Amino acid sequence: MIYNVIENDMEILNEIDKILEEAGSLLNSAKSRNELDDRFRAVSGKKGRLSAILHNIGSYSAEEKKIIGSKSNEVKNKIEAVYKNKKNEIEAIERQNFLDKYKIDLTIPGDYMERPHKHPITAVLEEAVDFFSSMGFEIAEGPEIETTYYNFDALNIPANHPARDVWDTFYLLNGLVPRTHTSSVQVRTLEKKSPPFRIIAPGRCYRYEAVDATHLFMFNQMEGLFVDKNVRLTDLKGILEETVKHLLGAKKTRFRPAFYPFVEPGLDLDIECVFCGGRGCGVCKNTGWIEVIPCGMVHPNVFKYAGIDPLKFRGFAFGMGFDRIVMLKYNINDLRLLYQGELDILNQF
Ligand SMILES: [Zn+2]
Repeated sequence: MIYNVIENDMEILNEIDKILEEAGSLLNSAKSRNELDDRFRAVSGKKGRLSAILHNIGSYSAEEKKIIGSKSNEVKNKIEAVYKNKKNEIEAIERQNFLDKYKIDLTIPGDYMERPHKHPITAVLEEAVDFFSSMGFEIAEGPEIETTYYNFDALNIPANHPARDVWDTFYLLNGLVPRTHTSSVQVRTLEKKSPPFRIIAPGRCYRYEAVDATHLFMFNQMEGLFVDKNVRLTDLKGILEETVKHLLGAKKTRFRPAFYPFVEPGLDLDIECVFCGGRGCGVCKNTGWIEVIPCGMVHPNVFKYAGIDPLKFRGFAFGMGFDRIVMLKYNINDLRLLYQGELDILNQF
């Protein structure tokens, strides 16, 4: 090195070496990225000692300036190298700390998640809707709070008729009633739609009942109405027999005459008791039969109320107690179990 002689004489070069030494230990003792950056700026920035030396270089000879300049540069680069090394080191430590803190072990088996399923009433309702849809029935809806006209009068149950007492009705203070059956949707549909049509109307109904194993003050019904020019009782029988076969797997069925003010003739569809196979048990009251679907041919008066000519159109209607269908399908002996939200019960279906 040609500068050696002069270098040895230059106090300032020692100082520059000292700067490097001090900067090295200062940077290497930093504990975090922020601390390291702050220290690096203090050492190598415009206010650092190295800058100050270069700033006051004017009093030196050209030869000396060259030496001081190159030495300063060399030290500056070295400080930068220390900084980069330390930065990498701190970043590696911080990354490792992060990984340790949020450790992910991909070999641990996943948590078992139980597959959710529908409430039995919803599941059977959807099955029934699918079934009727396949036969051309559409879904109709009506309000759960009804006028007495739609709930009774238009269904051939006038105010003074003794049959009105059969429906244990809640009366609201404003004169409306929580519908006692989905039959009110029949009337609303007859008013709105012009025949021919086929509808089902599933929904909640309300009656003033003492709660026990087979009665609740709220329950689900599914109404059905089929109106066309030549609808006959045999159509009703065929469709409803298929329905209980599909929904309940019923093998034996029978129709009995029954009275409902909005149908003439009125019938009850019974299925052979699913609990005893027809031998007789507590559920079927030893008759071997269980009543499942009240039904019948639409009463001419109901057509008249809706403004449809009973000489031109005929129809049949039915109203399934839907909760009862679910109880029979799943062998549930207490209606209340379906509404208690008891998971031990519901998870079985
Ligand atoms: Zn039985």
